Amino acid sequence: MSKRKLMFLGPPGAGKGTQAQRIADDFGIPQISTGDMLREARRKGTELGNKAAAFMDAGDLVPDEVVIGIVAERLQEDDASHGFILDGFPRTVAQAEALAQMGVALDGVVNIQVSEDEVIRRLGGRLSCPTSGCGASYHKEFNPPANEGVCDKCGAALYVRDDDQPEAIRQRLESYSAKTAPLVEFYDGRGKLLNVKGEGTPAQIEERIRAAVS
Ligand code: AMP
Repeated sequence: MSKRKLMFLGPPGAGKGTQAQRIADDFGIPQISTGDMLREARRKGTELGNKAAAFMDAGDLVPDEVVIGIVAERLQEDDASHGFILDGFPRTVAQAEALAQMGVALDGVVNIQVSEDEVIRRLGGRLSCPTSGCGASYHKEFNPPANEGVCDKCGAALYVRDDDQPEAIRQRLESYSAKTAPLVEFYDGRGKLLNVKGEGTPAQIEERIRAAVS
């Protein structure tokens, strides 16, 4: 068991979710994905979910105060007291500052580096599992499930997220460059950045991340 406070950074489609899940399972720490929490809130039809829905479907970021609130609450839970992997948070400098103000000192920020061309190819074929608490994702071509259209982990029928449609993909990439990419410099300046090449098989990338964080 490796009790670390890590954050996974990278453009949409870099493989953050896939890798965060693998490493979190292995280290025995929770994967805290704001995207998964927001999708879950939408499925349940909570006020938070309804507030986030239009931003998400358009590929825009949900307002800072909304995500900061859900992360602050999640980090209070017992399972997060000795370590976690933040997946998809922070996504703006304001969120990173709020995280520091919560008293969270990250041990490392894994920056998964993938070219824009590769990201577009990957997001184009992404298949996601709708089951709450599963959240596995696949790719039609590069990381297919064992049985077509079916989640390997829980057996649910896979689907294409609304924000994996072409127009939303373009908007997500724009949001990333304008609002999230500045975090690379932010964490580099604080000596936390661990760059990892995000191209190759999921197993190869996992190995590089493991080496970077150990
Ligand atoms: P993800 O599953 O991480 O790609 O997140 C899906 C969508 O949820 C994003 O495109 C945003 O609309 C929203 N979202 C997730 N995390 C954040 C965050 N930290 N800040 C703002 N919006 C977020």
